[in-house]
Amino acid sequence: MENKKYKCAKCGYTYDPEVGDPKHGIEPGTPFEELPDDWKCPRCRKPKDQFVEKEEKKEPTYMEEKNVILEAMKKAGEPLNAGKIAELTGLDRKIVDKAMAAMKKEGSIVSPVRCKWEPAEK
Ligand SMILES: [Zn+2]
Repeated sequence: MENKKYKCAKCGYTYDPEVGDPKHGIEPGTPFEELPDDWKCPRCRKPKDQFVEKEEKKEPTYMEEKNVILEAMKKAGEPLNAGKIAELTGLDRKIVDKAMAAMKKEGSIVSPVRCKWEPAEK
C-alpha cells in the first residue's frame, strides 16, 4: 500500500494517508493518488497538483567522517580533543562534534583523558 505523505507547496499542510481528510469526506487510509481530482488543500484551497511528495528526513550518519576521525586518531597515537581533530582532518568543527557525539553513543571512541578521545579499538 502506498503510504507517502504529500505536502502543500503553498502553505506546508501535509496530507497524511493514515489520517485522510475526514472533514472533506476523505476516509483515513486514502492514498494521495486516490484523492478525487477536485480535492483541495484543506488549509489554503490549492489544488492537488500543488502538492509535492514529502521526503522523510533521514538522520545523517556521518559514516565517512567517522572513518576520517578514527584514522586521524590512530595516526596521532594519542588522545585528541575535538578541536585538534578538526585541525588534523580539515573537517568542519560542527561536523566533528556531531560525528563524535554519534561515536561516543555507539562506543567506538573512548575518553581516557578529560575532553580527549581515542578509538575504543586500537
Ligand atoms: Zn495548502
